Amino acid sequence: MGRKPVIEHDECIGDGVCESICPEVFELRDDGLAYVINDDPDPDLEDEIQEAIDSCPTGCITWEDE
Ligand code: SF4
Repeated sequence: MGRKPVIEHDECIGDGVCESICPEVFELRDDGLAYVINDDPDPDLEDEIQEAIDSCPTGCITWEDE
């Protein structure tokens, strides 16, 4: 795919929306922040990742080109 999602942690409020949409890529941890757990997501996951980006209430997930 050549790109991956990144999370701006200063803006993450830890509601877990991203994980609920795409748990293959996003994980909410005990520190109250979401993390990207798959740095090379399968292209099949791109739609789910985009949905998570669009659904994040603070808009803190973005694509990063590699
Ligand atoms: S949807 Fe956005 S604010 Fe919510 S846990 Fe995921 S990255 Fe954080």
